[in-house]
Amino acid sequence: MMTNSKPNFQKAYKNANEILVSSKTITEFPYSASKLIKEQSDIVCRSFDKAQKYNVDIEAFGSKSAVIINLDNRDIIFYNQNEIPQRVKFSMIHEFGHRKNGHEFKKMSDEIYGIAEVETNYFTAQLLMPEQILREFQKRGRRIEKSFLMNTFGVSEQAAIKRIETLNKITWERSLLEKQYDDIILNKYLPWINSIVPNNIDYLFSDDEAKQQERELWKYKY
Ligand SMILES: [Zn+2]
Repeated sequence: MMTNSKPNFQKAYKNANEILVSSKTITEFPYSASKLIKEQSDIVCRSFDKAQKYNVDIEAFGSKSAVIINLDNRDIIFYNQNEIPQRVKFSMIHEFGHRKNGHEFKKMSDEIYGIAEVETNYFTAQLLMPEQILREFQKRGRRIEKSFLMNTFGVSEQAAIKRIETLNKITWERSLLEKQYDDIILNKYLPWINSIVPNNIDYLFSDDEAKQQERELWKYKY
């Protein structure tokens, strides 16, 4: 990697979308982070209170909600069971995101580490609150605000605020493949999307009054 690299949002977006499309665990939101990680990787998830069993010093983790550690060639995500679940879930997927996005901590400078953090946070936001679904909600007239994201997707206040900020991160020319992902994702989650924000467009055309008027019209026509 070059020292002047920037976060690769396109890569993180693609990696998250592939999971949204292929996962059998995710059928609606929110979903279980540990089940998703189990489905998509060989990473094991364990709570902090199990860390002793693995001879891992949890004090060294400081205030972190989750960390990923490689022990005997096995990746383990240790999560802090005392934190609020929304924060723990975000942190677990964040750690999983480092692996999915090919981040190798051993070789990282501070600058590259910073870039890796931005990439995995974007990956996590896309996986927990998919951009395509938020756009669909907007199209249906729903305002994307903090409390709506918190209640609908089971995320923390901080994650909701960040998501609203990063919603316009797509600045690249979207490829055909990316556009195809949009349709597949919307189709897959349509029953859930409809349950959250019903699509009112159907009513516009099947409105009783409009039908009545049409029937009236046909009274005087052949
Ligand atoms: Zn990180």
